[in-house]
Amino acid sequence: MGKIYIIDVTNRDGVQTAKLGLSKLEKTLINVYLNEMGVFQSEFGFPTTRHEQLYLQANLELAEMGVLKPIHLSGWVRAVVDDVELAFKRIPQLKHMNLSMSTSNQMINGKFRGGKSIDDIIGKMTEAVDAAASCGLETIGVNAEDASRTDLKNLIKFGKAAKEHGAARLRYCDTLGYDNPFTIYDAAKALAENVGLPVELHCHGDLGMAVANSLAGAKGAIDGGQDAYINTTINGIGERAGNADLVAVILAIMKSKDFAGKYCLGQDIDLSISYKIAKFASYAFKVPIPINQPGVGANAFAHASGIHADGVLKDKGTYELYDFTELGRGEPEQVETGREICTGQYSGISGFRHVMGQIIGGIAADGHIDGDMSISFHNDKEAEEILELVRYANVEAQKPLVEEELVFIAKYPDIARKLLTLRPLDGE
Ligand SMILES: [Zn+2]
Repeated sequence: MGKIYIIDVTNRDGVQTAKLGLSKLEKTLINVYLNEMGVFQSEFGFPTTRHEQLYLQANLELAEMGVLKPIHLSGWVRAVVDDVELAFKRIPQLKHMNLSMSTSNQMINGKFRGGKSIDDIIGKMTEAVDAAASCGLETIGVNAEDASRTDLKNLIKFGKAAKEHGAARLRYCDTLGYDNPFTIYDAAKALAENVGLPVELHCHGDLGMAVANSLAGAKGAIDGGQDAYINTTINGIGERAGNADLVAVILAIMKSKDFAGKYCLGQDIDLSISYKIAKFASYAFKVPIPINQPGVGANAFAHASGIHADGVLKDKGTYELYDFTELGRGEPEQVETGREICTGQYSGISGFRHVMGQIIGGIAADGHIDGDMSISFHNDKEAEEILELVRYANVEAQKPLVEEELVFIAKYPDIARKLLTLRPLDGE
C-alpha cells in the first residue's frame, strides 16, 4: 500500500506570497528545521533567480556536509528548456527539480492567447523533461498548474507523456483552491490508476479546504495504487489564502478518524519540532500565528468554560485529541523585562560577546539543534569576524536575529558569508 510523504514548499510558494518574504538566512534555518522534523523534501527556491544563486549553492553545500541530510532539496522552474538549462548553469549541483506547466484551457488561453493546444503544451513539457534528464537529475517532478480546472483526459495524457520521458512524480496543482475533498479524491485516484506515477497534491485555501483536500487527494492516490506526496507550507503561508499547513496536515494524517493507521506517512516525522518551526516562521514572516491555529495556536489547548475545563481536568482526552507535549509545547518561555543587550547592524564586540555568552544551545555536526552546546570563540579575530557577519545578517533581516541564527552564523561562517552576499552578480 502506498505511503504519504511531505514536501514543504514554504521556501518557494511561501516566499512568493504578496507582501511577505524571508532573508536567505531565514530560508536556510527553515530547511534546517524541516530536516530536523523529518520532512521528506524542501522545495528550497528558484534556481533561475539570480539572488537565489548563492543561497541555493550554500544549502547544497550544507547537504554535502551532512547538515541538511536526509532531506531532499528541490528547485522549482517553469517547464521550459531555456529555464532548465539556465537553472543548471547557475546551480550545477541540483539533484531534484520540479518543472511547472499550465494545463487548463483557462490558463493556456489566458497566458498564450489561444496560440497553443494541449498537445503543444505537452510537447513543450516533454522537451523540458528531456533537457532536465540530460543534466543528470535524480528526480524530476512535473507540475500540472491549474490541474483542478483541467479536463481529466488532458491531464492523464499530460501525465503519461511526463512518465514516458522519465518524470518520477506528477504534481496535481489545485492552484486556485477550487477542489473539494470529493472531487480531488476522484481526480487523484484516476491519475494514479491511469498515469501510473506517484501523485503530488498541491492545494490552496481559497475555499478553506487546503488541508482536507490534501488528505482526500492522498487517499485517492493511494487507493489508485500509488504513493502520495503532500505539498505544505509552515503556518499555511502561501499565495492569497495560503497553502495546506504543515503541522495541520501531519496531525490530520496521524490523528484523524479512519485515516490514522491506514494511510500512513512514509517517513518518521518528529512532531515535537512543530511549535518551534511554527514560531520561527511566524517571526521570520512577521505574521502572527492565529490564536486558533491547529496544534500551535495560543488557544489550541486552552479551556475556559465550566464543562470543558472540568472534563479536561478529570481526563484530558475528554476535550483534547492529542497532547501539547507531542508538538513540543509546554516549556515556559522567558521574556526579558529588564535590561536587554541585543545584536544589530551597528553592534560592537563587547555587547556581541555578552549576547553570545548567554546562548546555550548549538547545532551539532549532523544538523540537530543541541541544547547542551555553547558558543565560544578561539580569539578576538574570530569573534570580530562572526560579529561582522551578524551585522550583515541584521541588515538583511531588519529585525533582531533569533538565537539559532546567531548559533548558525558562528558555526558556519563560510556558509553565512554566502547567504549574506546579495550584491547583484556581474554577468553570468
Ligand atoms: Zn501554489
